[in-house]
Amino acid sequence: MFEEIIKKERDMKLRYEKLISKKSKHECLIKDCKEKSILSHAISKTTLKHIAQENHLIYQKFDRANFNINDFIEPNNVNMKFETIGINEASTFKGFCKKHDNNIFEQIDNKNITTLRDVLLQLYRTTCKNYFLNDMVKEAEIDILKKEHYFNTNFINKQEVNLENIILFLDDLLDDFPNEPFYIKDNEVLFFSPVSNIQPNLLVMLKKTNIKFPIALESSFALSLNNKYYTSIVIIIPTENSSIIIVLTHKDLEKQFTPSFRNNLKILNFVESIMMLDSEFYIDPKEFESWSQEKKDIIKTDLYFFNERKFMQEYDISIFDNLRKMIISEENIDIQQYELKKINYKPIRESLKNRFWKLGQFIERIRKL
Ligand SMILES: [Zn+2]
Repeated sequence: MFEEIIKKERDMKLRYEKLISKKSKHECLIKDCKEKSILSHAISKTTLKHIAQENHLIYQKFDRANFNINDFIEPNNVNMKFETIGINEASTFKGFCKKHDNNIFEQIDNKNITTLRDVLLQLYRTTCKNYFLNDMVKEAEIDILKKEHYFNTNFINKQEVNLENIILFLDDLLDDFPNEPFYIKDNEVLFFSPVSNIQPNLLVMLKKTNIKFPIALESSFALSLNNKYYTSIVIIIPTENSSIIIVLTHKDLEKQFTPSFRNNLKILNFVESIMMLDSEFYIDPKEFESWSQEKKDIIKTDLYFFNERKFMQEYDISIFDNLRKMIISEENIDIQQYELKKINYKPIRESLKNRFWKLGQFIERIRKL
């Protein structure tokens, strides 16, 4: 019985990997287009180059080698590893046909994000990618189990804002949205709340930092407020010497995000916290190699147990040590000491067995939402 469950679990993951691979065949996501989709970038190559070393990046990947019964009875590792990936493949998915991919995203593919229209295009692309990946989770489950397992259509339909709503909202908005450059001062956040009949209460926040985070990140998660669920999107895009942070969320959740943009230290803590919250991200290999093996292992394992941290909960370990040291020089001595402690902090986590058990409980709760 137990072995059967593990086998199905593995088969679902392998089926998912196959469905999202570059060889898989899918139709374009654009309404009424029946063309075959090509492998296209959610975050453009031009952008990824800003954090790549010889056109390569580091990302976290499901580790298929590590999947046998003993790993479940006495686990000594998680099915995840950090791996090198070329910028031709990083952040790609089979979402759009060649024509639509070229026509719609040409602008952000060629020259990064400089206008509000670019911001909406990036949000559109990332949301479509996350929608596509979710859909493949569902398809893999139905292929193997003949029913949904982790995927929960009921929960998605009951959300006040879900990925599909966001896609419709952006689609409508992009139809005739002007193409004018935005200007944001170092200490400002741009708030943009487009007039829309489709989703009147969505808000886009935009921050351009004066330091560059060695990371590109895309994330979507459902946040709850008064028993209602709102999907929000966070994207971090590197430029030559800064980072652009894009947030799309419901207006009622604005105050959950705004404190994070107050200064560089708050932004650093925000970036590290979002990274550790089941996000997809790509790191500059130079930054990754500066981490000790122990730190790599802790971060990898913590990433797997994304259920252990709450939204906006500060990660207890410093991920970007060099940036942290530089940023805190502007802070008072108490804050400096507090932040420096995170650099050499050796966390005491529960046993892997307990952590797996709690993750299982967490997933069960989500399945029943
Ligand atoms: Zn198409």
